[in-house]
Order: sequence, then structure tokens, then C-alpha cells
Amino acid sequence: MPILGAIADDVTGATDLAAMLVNAGARTVQLLGVPPADAESPDADAVVVSLKSRTAPVAWAVTDSLASLDRLLGWDARTIYFKVCSTFDSTDRGNIGPVADALREALGTRLVPVCPAFPANGRTVYQGHLFVGTALLNESGMENHPLTPMRDANLVRVLGRQTRERVGLVPFATVERGVEAVRAALAALENDSVAYAILDSVSDAQLATLGEAIADYRLMVGGSGLALGLPAAWRRRGWLSARGDAARLPHVPGRAAILAGSCSRTTLAQVAQARACFASFALDPLAHPDADALAAAAIDWSDRQAAEPTLLIYASASPERVAEVQAVLGRDRAGEIIEQAFATIAEALVARGVRRLIVAGGETSGAVVSRLGLARLVIGPTIDPGVPWTFAPERDLLLALKSGNFGTTDFFTKALTMLEARP
Ligand code: ADP
Repeated sequence: MPILGAIADDVTGATDLAAMLVNAGARTVQLLGVPPADAESPDADAVVVSLKSRTAPVAWAVTDSLASLDRLLGWDARTIYFKVCSTFDSTDRGNIGPVADALREALGTRLVPVCPAFPANGRTVYQGHLFVGTALLNESGMENHPLTPMRDANLVRVLGRQTRERVGLVPFATVERGVEAVRAALAALENDSVAYAILDSVSDAQLATLGEAIADYRLMVGGSGLALGLPAAWRRRGWLSARGDAARLPHVPGRAAILAGSCSRTTLAQVAQARACFASFALDPLAHPDADALAAAAIDWSDRQAAEPTLLIYASASPERVAEVQAVLGRDRAGEIIEQAFATIAEALVARGVRRLIVAGGETSGAVVSRLGLARLVIGPTIDPGVPWTFAPERDLLLALKSGNFGTTDFFTKALTMLEARP
């Protein structure tokens, strides 16, 4: 029976939370999409369901979240965690408020702690105001986000516009005074009929305080940071054993492949570094402006590399080259052709015995995971912040899904070396 059942509003956010929990000692499984009604309870301390509900229509986000809640409650999850972005990505219409309201009502709870702080990544909350680094949220660039422009840094107000319930604050000074002070402040807010308490937090030490103070609440809303102190609190309550390595994955022998579909600056540097180490092949969407033909060229090439332990296949290209491709194929069509080609390539490589797969790019990862039909990822050790190795039991496959901007320049070699170093 999982201690924590989380509902995450996007896939990479779910992985981020799952990695946080594993690093704090909780065995964690990530489920992709709403679990089917007859799905068995995963054998883990924490289960993170990843949805695609951050910018979905409100009704859809609520429906998927409630269906996920139903599964998590069916598995007797003790604590429900609604995972949102650490920049609180939402609009006045939702989706954080409406989803939280629906979960709160379904659970019949009164006060819900809310905190997106993630100090290690520069997200702090002070007097209810969210900062990104040294800038207020609404001066951090997030005010220009194409889908969820954040034009107000005051989370009491932001959440207040998304719910009819009352929103209050547990300020910095209270959090500094420690666990009992936070508990008393939460109890006072609850007595005052406040439904949501924004929690200030500017450091990991404060997150540890919050973890202990809120561990008995039935529902909480946070970024991945709010989970930092929870496993320690569970251990103190005897819910989580002090068992060894939560990040242990099975040893899976086999060839490795790297598929890079991100054109971010970070990924371009990572691809350049990896090209010097591994046999590599560049997809040419202008020569093959069709997903099947584009994939076939790469698969033909890979069939001629039987002696190579690791293959690198990439579409990653400079902004100039991407603009050229988009001018001919159109932006969306180019993206779709390349994503589908990568999905086909991944399927072919796994069929040919690749058992260690690294995918760079959020959308690219989504296409690959859905083509491979994966429903479940067991979370393993972190390669770089936010990117763990995972194990997909359905395919007996080790998988690392990296969003474009994550990881150091030597990410690909580092990730593979990490596996070699394991027993
Ligand atoms: P990131 O995580 O960096 O945003 P994504 O995989 O989410 O990476 O997005 C990258 C998008 O760019 C994908 O749709 C991918 O198919 C597309 N793409 C990759 N290479 C090229 C290229 N050479 N020309 C045009 N589009 C490309």
C-alpha cells in the first residue's frame, strides 16, 4: 500500500517529483496517464500518476485528476499530493484551483497546505510571493509564457482567483519558528474556515520543517520541493522502513541508444560531446520528409553498426537549420514527422535488443513512450537534477527521459557510465 499517491499535471514534473521521493528514500513508481480501473497497486512507497492536465480544458483536467484519485484511493494511498509546476503555471480559470477544489471535496478534507517552493532550483516563497532566483515570478520571464503567463507573484491572490474557497498564508517567520508553530498556524487557519494555506519556504531546512508539519494532512498541493521532507516524516511515524537503496534498478544487459530530438542549446552541446564518443547518425528531414522514410534511413544505418555498443541518432540542429526545415515542411509538420520517426526508430531498436535508451526532448520522449506502450516506470538513481534512470518492466528496458534543457554537457556519457558502474 503506497504511503503517497501523487497526481502530477505533466510528465516531466511527475518524474521530477518521483526522483525527489526516491532520493529521500521512498521507492517510487511513475504511472503514465490515468491508470486503468483494474490496474494492480504498484509495489512502492509512492506512486506518481502523470497526467497532461496543466493546460488542458478545466473539465478535462478535473475528470482525469478525479479518476486518478479514485485509483490511488483504491490502492489505499494515505496521502494525496497534487503536483504542480514550481512556477505555479496556471491562469485565472485554472487548472490548479479547480483541480484542488475537486480533490478536496472528493476527500472531504478541510485545510490543504500549498507550496511550490523548490529552493535548490531557485524557486522560493516569501510572504506568499513566489520568486524565481532573485526575480519575482511576474518579472522572471514567466509573465510572457505562451500558455500560462504569470503576471502576479502573490500566490494567495493567484490561487484566490481560481477558487471560491478562502486562501491564507503561513509566513516565513512562523516557518522559521519550527514544526509546532506551523502546525498551530495551520490549525488557526482551519478554524477560520480557510481551505488553502500557502506556505512560505526559502530553504531545504524549511521544507524539512514543512514536511514534518504537514505529513498527516490528507491532501497537499506542491511542486517537487514540498516532498523533500516527507519521507523523513514518514520514517519518524514508522510508515516507511529504513530499508536500503530506494533507487535500485534491475541490471539489464544490452546495447544502448541515444535519441535526441531536442534542439535546445543544452542538448546541442550534449550531442556534440557524444558524437566524439559514439557511432552517430543525423536524421535529415529534408531528404526524407516522411516519418517512415526518415526512420527507415536511421534503422538501415543502425543495422550496419552491429559491432557498436552504443548508437546516437539525432535530429538536433542549429536554429538556422531548424528554420530551414520549418520553412519547407512547416513547424508543426516538421515536429510531428521527426517525433514519429523517433518513435518508430525506438521501437525498431528495442526489437533489435537495445535495452538502455536515452531520449532527449520532452515531446520526443512523449512520442517514444507512447509508441513503446509504456504504462509504468520504476524510478532509479538521478543522473542530473530532474532526470533519473528509470526501468520499464513491460519492455525490460532502462530508460532516461531528459527534457531539452536539463543535464550537464557530458550527460549522455555520464548516464551510460553510471549503469556500467552498477553491479
Ligand atoms: P525540448 O524538450 O527541448 O522542448 P522537444 O522534443 O519537446 O524538445 O521539442 C523539440 C521539437 O523540435 C520536436 O517536435 C522535434 O521533432 C522538433 N525538431 C527536432 N529536430 C528538428 C529539426 N532539425 N528541424 C525541425 N524540428 C525539429
